[in-house]
Amino acid sequence: MGLFDNRVALVTGGSSGIGRATAIAFAREGARVIVADITENNGIGAVEAIRDEGGEAMFIKADVSDANEVRHMVSKTLAVYGGLDLAVNNAGIEGVLADTEDYPQDNWDRVIAVNLTGVWISMKYELPAMLERGRGAIVNISSILGMVGFAQAAAYTAAKHGVIGLTKVAALEYADRGVRVNAVCPALIDTPMLMERTIKAGENPEVYEQMSALHPAGRLGKPREVAAAVLWLCSEGASFVTGDAMLVDGGYTAK
Ligand code: NAD
Repeated sequence: MGLFDNRVALVTGGSSGIGRATAIAFAREGARVIVADITENNGIGAVEAIRDEGGEAMFIKADVSDANEVRHMVSKTLAVYGGLDLAVNNAGIEGVLADTEDYPQDNWDRVIAVNLTGVWISMKYELPAMLERGRGAIVNISSILGMVGFAQAAAYTAAKHGVIGLTKVAALEYADRGVRVNAVCPALIDTPMLMERTIKAGENPEVYEQMSALHPAGRLGKPREVAAAVLWLCSEGASFVTGDAMLVDGGYTAK
């Protein structure tokens, strides 16, 4: 018996990093999983990894900033699996680093479109499917940068603060209709977003050490440690938890 037997779980940005670890963790607990992403090869790889372990999953190509693609993502989920119980709105991009006065507007617009508007659009189409079932749980992936600032990350920080606001609003709206809505706020997690593109850990071991030392735990987090928090928030154990923004940060924001 798994925690999510007979449940259908959708993970946006499920091809890589935190999303991939979450999709795999859901499948290990018996859920039928939809890996939704713009990146097809990696997404199919995630689905194959799940099937190799005996789990059930399918890939849907969807850009979360595009309402038509998100509508299709949910309608295909309903057509194939007959409903939607759990959704993790995880797709995100990092954006460039620049002082606020120099922040390039095209980059600002794209980060807000994916990281903030994408979460709202996803909830807009996921919620009716959950209300149809009379139950559901949504977890939106924010960040410690939904709680505190980080110099040169204006768009990302604004979007992640916004995700927590959106989460609280939806939690209030659906608390008495069977759908819980929470956020998870990871600190720096060992994923391609961080290791390969942001700090380029292979080329900059000293930056990697500095980043690790920012956490009282003395290290970066692992994708599966974020997935574990997401799964708990989706589980019956969290039946009275809604509107929460749960830190998974090795003590980063406790300082
Ligand atoms: P990642 O780059 O490994 O994975 C992100 C996935 O999202 C990729 O598969 C990518 O193709 C997909 N994606 C990007 N734009 C998309 C779009 N428009 N539509 C659909 N899919 C899209 O990154 P990650 O580190 O696993 O990040 C996952 C989430 O966690 C993001 O929201 C990120 O902001 C958040 N987060 C990450 C960290 C960290 O340190 N890695 C910390 C806090 C929060």
